[in-house]
Formats: sequence, structure tokens, C-alpha cells
Amino acid sequence: MTGHVLVVNAGSSSVKLAVVDPDTGHRPVTALAERLGSPDAALHVHRAEGPGHAPAAPDPAGGAISADEALTRLVEGLTDAERSTLTGVGHRVVHGGSRFSDSVVVDAGVRADLDRLVALAPLHMPANLRGVEVAQAALPDLPHVAVFDTAFHQTMEPVAYRYAVPTAWYADHGVRRYGFHGTSHRFVSERAAELLGRPLESLRLVTLHLGNGCSAAAVDGGRSVDTTMGLTPLEGLVMGTRSGDVDPGVIGYVAAQEGVGAEEVLAALNSRSGLLGLSGLSNDMRTLCDAAEAGSEPATLAVQVFCYRVAKTVGALTVALGGLDAVVFTGGIGEHSSLVRSRVLDRLAVLGLHEDPEANARHGRGTGGRVDRATDPSSTAGPAALVVPTDEELVIARDTARLVSGGTP
Ligand code: ADP
Repeated sequence: MTGHVLVVNAGSSSVKLAVVDPDTGHRPVTALAERLGSPDAALHVHRAEGPGHAPAAPDPAGGAISADEALTRLVEGLTDAERSTLTGVGHRVVHGGSRFSDSVVVDAGVRADLDRLVALAPLHMPANLRGVEVAQAALPDLPHVAVFDTAFHQTMEPVAYRYAVPTAWYADHGVRRYGFHGTSHRFVSERAAELLGRPLESLRLVTLHLGNGCSAAAVDGGRSVDTTMGLTPLEGLVMGTRSGDVDPGVIGYVAAQEGVGAEEVLAALNSRSGLLGLSGLSNDMRTLCDAAEAGSEPATLAVQVFCYRVAKTVGALTVALGGLDAVVFTGGIGEHSSLVRSRVLDRLAVLGLHEDPEANARHGRGTGGRVDRATDPSSTAGPAALVVPTDEELVIARDTARLVSGGTP
């Protein structure tokens, strides 16, 4: 037995923890602290083999507690038996810059490098790094591993990652496309190859991670060659509250029209745009699909723009790959919304993709499988469309186990 890994995903308003068996994916303990810093902060712990196998009742934290305090309490809440199974702690860290192309054990040198990357992701990195610090203090005898959202995309060539901006911005400040959701794109690429029964090395995949954040990646033989998110997670597809691609000229124009600073416009592009901005109703795709069905025009438009942009991006990434063997849907929307998949596939008929409506409806509840018409899994006639549930925690657990046991990728 390899032992278990404690996976930590520390954000500014929520902290997620899971004890994961990297071999089987089993999670004996999962825990969540949410709405941190607000008076209705809450901690939830769930034990798979607990009394009655039922979720533990929410533990009201009793007032505004910080992310640090929540993480300490959740780690201290592990029993001695649970702690004794742990061989390492894996941390989700959003930005590894150009420095990290793989996960890494966090020592003093790595920590200093990570601190230098905070400027690239000021919204996420401080919380991620506090998580590492607090967990190291609580579990000082275990190795702590950083697993980056960006690392998988470090295989991109300059032709894909360079922006056409002054070279000094790149050389002096690292202004380039990094890409995110790398653990998810990597995981679903590997699973897609298994489902298709073909070696990953032979496949040209477009992976679509459609959740609250959304990104697409072109994965050639298991290597990311292009992706839609950039220096920050704001670029690319339409997301829950993020705009995705807009003309950068919008920032100066709206700032001047509204008499506000660029920072304020950027904040709106991050938190008041995307599905929420278009619909004026919600950032939640399920709510919008229901509203569209009930006749809401803004909700209908929001869903249309979302699907159009996904389909257009698959076309662009097919060019990046020089061909297409499969499109892979994942993330909350990609896994659960048969309507979104159907709309996207309708537009991809030009690439030889055709929805199998029955299979698409069947895979609408988180099960993986093919949703195109050539459902014979050994068919190599045209590109396939697949639903693959993602599992970023499992990738973090496996990378941690690999590094802790001194392995290479
Ligand atoms: P995160 O990116 O925060 O991990 P998820 O991957 O869970 O988020 O994705 C959340 C999105 O998935 C929301 O827009 C939600 O509405 C959408 N979603 C979940 N289930 C469904 C469903 N049955 N139909 C449509 N959208 C769904």
C-alpha cells in the first residue's frame, strides 16, 4: 500500500481537504470550509466509513473565521488513525509561471520561487501559499508537494504562448500565455485514451473544461500544445462571471465612459461578466438553461454565446493540432449539461462530429462515455465526442505520491 495523501485546495473564501488513496481514488475523508471571513462561515466534514455512512452535520464555525483557522481546525480534526495513513500533502497551487513544468516538493528554495510568482496571480496565490504554510505547520513531518494548474501547459511552443506585445513585457515581466486547469486537461486526456482504447501518444484531443471557469486545450500525444487561458484565467471562453476574450480596448473605453479606473473595469470583467453579465440573471448554467426553456431571451442569448464560443474554439484548436481525433467534455457543465454538448456538437458537424442524442442524454449524469454517433468504441472513422468526469484531487494525490516516493513522471 502506498499510503494516503492529504489534498489541500486553499482559496481565500473556501478551503477544501480530502484524504485520498492515490491507487484507488477512494476518499475516506473529505472536508470543506466555506464562506470564510463572513459571519456565516461553515465547516463540513464527511467520512466515507463514518457512523451510518452519512455526511457529518455541518459544523457552524460560530462567526467569521479565517481560511488559516479553518485549515488548522480541519487538519486537527483528523483522527490519529487517519493521520497515520498519510505519506504526503498535495497542494493545489494556481500559478507555477515558467519555472515549474511539473509538480514539486516544497522546500525553502521552492518556497522562495513561489513567492516570486504571486504577482502573476494576486487573486489566488496568496491564499494557496498560506495554505501550504499552515498545513506545513500542522503536519511538519510530512513532505508537502505543490501541484500547479499551469504546469501541464508548459509544453506549449513560443508560437502558441507568446503574445504579440513588446518583447520587453515578456522578457522583464513574463507576459505570455500560461494556461490553467492543467490537472484537469491532463486527467481527462488520459481517461479519453482509455475510453477510446487507443494509445494517448497517437491522439489529437481538444479537451473542454467547462465549469465556473472554462478553458479548452489542444492535447497532441498527451502534450498540451495550446490552450485558451492566458497570463491569467480571464482569457478565452465565456465563463460563469468572467468575460473571456474581449478587445483590450474595452478597458480604456469603459473606464473613460464611466469615469472609473482600469482596475474597476478589470474587476467587472472578472466578476460581473460572462454568463452573469450576458444574462443579467445568473452565473449558473443550470439556472440559465431552465430560464431559457421558460422563454427568457437574455438567458437564451447567454447559452447561445457560450456554446458558439466553445465550438469556434474547437475549430481553432483543431488547426493547432493539424487534425482531430476527439473532443472531450468535462467540468460541471461539460459533464452534466447534455443541452450544451448538443449545441456545441451541432456546430461541429463541419468537423465530422455528430451527436448521438440517446448517448448524450445517457451520459448527462456524470458518467463517462462517447456521445457521438459512431459509438463503436473501436471506430477510428472520424473524430469522437466524449464525456469524461474530471478528478483534479486524484491528479494531485497521484503526483504527490509519485514525488514522495521519488518517482519521475
Ligand atoms: P468549478 O469550476 O467551481 O469546480 P463546476 O465544475 O462544478 O465548478 O461547474 C459548475 C457549473 O456546472 C455551473 O455553471 C453549474 O450550473 C453547471 N452544472 C452543474 N450541473 C449542471 C446541469 N445538470 N446542467 C447544466 N449545468 C450544470
